[in-house]
Amino acid sequence: MLHLKMYINGEWVDAQSGKTREIVNPASGEVIALAAEGDVEDARHAIQVARQAFDSGEWAELPAAERARYLFAIADKLEARAEEIARLETLDNGKPLRESRFDVADAAGCFRYYAGLVTKPDGQTYHVADPVQAMVVREPVGVCGLIVPWNYPLLMAVWKIAPALAAGNTIVFKPSEVTPVTARTLFEIIEEVGIPKGVANMVMGPGPTVGHELAASHLVDKISFTGGTATGRSIMTAAAGNIKKISLELGGKSPNIVFADADFDTAVDYALFGIFANQGQVCSAGSRLLLEESIHDRFVERLVERAKQIRVGAGDDPETEMGPLVSQAHMEKVLRYIELGKAEGARLVCGGNRLAANGLDKGYFVEPTIFVDTTPDMRIVQEEIFGPVLAVQKFTDEEDAIRLANNTVYGLAGGVFTQDGAKAMRVIKKLRAGITWINCYHPTYNEAPWGGYKQSGIGRGLGTFGFDEFTEVKQININLQVQPIGWFAK
Ligand code: NAD
Repeated sequence: MLHLKMYINGEWVDAQSGKTREIVNPASGEVIALAAEGDVEDARHAIQVARQAFDSGEWAELPAAERARYLFAIADKLEARAEEIARLETLDNGKPLRESRFDVADAAGCFRYYAGLVTKPDGQTYHVADPVQAMVVREPVGVCGLIVPWNYPLLMAVWKIAPALAAGNTIVFKPSEVTPVTARTLFEIIEEVGIPKGVANMVMGPGPTVGHELAASHLVDKISFTGGTATGRSIMTAAAGNIKKISLELGGKSPNIVFADADFDTAVDYALFGIFANQGQVCSAGSRLLLEESIHDRFVERLVERAKQIRVGAGDDPETEMGPLVSQAHMEKVLRYIELGKAEGARLVCGGNRLAANGLDKGYFVEPTIFVDTTPDMRIVQEEIFGPVLAVQKFTDEEDAIRLANNTVYGLAGGVFTQDGAKAMRVIKKLRAGITWINCYHPTYNEAPWGGYKQSGIGRGLGTFGFDEFTEVKQININLQVQPIGWFAK
């Protein structure tokens, strides 16, 4: 049994109330850890510490190359412990080991990316009337509250922590209350590499108390949140008190559009990957598959054939291709959506059930599920299910595909499959989404901005855009002829 403490001011601490929360392995239902269950008081303490650390200037005023040295060291240590961390991620979140291994490698890459970026040329100068020399510099925002969900516990943490620290901010990080395990290891590493006390803090506990305090506190300058759209909305409201800077990476219902002239096998393959990777618990999942009428039936037939072959099991079984959902509550939510789809009149052509045979009965396993004969107004077409449930939509031509693709409140991601390059670009340019793919789905790069249009969020993570979100911009105007201006008579 693991005992997980919070990390505040360089100390590992229990919740002030002494409360703990049981952390469950979703493949077996077994309790694997007891995590400190923080409260508003714990959050306030961590925020105060981060405030003092920022205001001391110790971290922000370090030369960029020095901060980079810490981040490179974190990346090295993540890599050195990669297999251990991947196994912990699978134990806590359920995802197959091959995915956890990928996440750890990507997390190390993200630290290296920002360690490199922070030492590169930066800022602007601009020409104004003599004798003023004008320039723009970037400075850290200050104290950053970082709140993440449970679907990529380590990776989502790193996408925020790496750029925030690189830019010279101090942080209070909160993992999802369901998946705090690998965050503990990450903060052990942060401690080992010697990041000064108070710069990086971790609190645990419920969103509505601990998370809300991070969003509401006037001592916090910026909140960077990844999670559901409804939570994002409440964070915006809480953050309004001191006009906090906010970045929100929220939900999606992303269209994956396949034209009749697409490479058939490639499109089938990516359609499966788009919705069933990570059990469909991916914000950018291709959860709506838009098929051109003429290939619809043949495509669905092949898709179902392939989906039925997906090996569902415990994430630590090397044979497993799809693991359990993250928790019982989440599994129940997904199963309710499947019932809703049937009740709405969509036709279930694959899966639809909880899996209990072959020792899976204690875990939260759901079959790869596919609905056809949907209509655009159905809730299973409009709402994010965040599980292995695909809604297939049929379209007649390019214009119809674009209209259907954009017909939700979300705008996170989208894919297009066609061998006609010009058509692919025409469609992508019309898609109201921040992350797009042509003839592939899901590849994600530390170098490229991540985020959505419409109700999928505000701002971008990753890349130079993600770095900028953790900075303020200052203009500096320097008078090169220091003498009175004489505007008012003496
Ligand atoms: P969630 O919104 O319930 O929780 C996310 C985090 O917010 C958790 O740490 C939670 O404790 C905290 N939280 C909850 N209520 C809060 C409040 N009132 N104030 C402050 N913090 C609060 O989301 P989830 O169920 O953990 O994750 C699934 C959601 O995350 C999906 O909607 C998914 O699309 C989204 N997501 C988006 C991205 C992206 O990059 N766009 C990536 C991963 C997940």
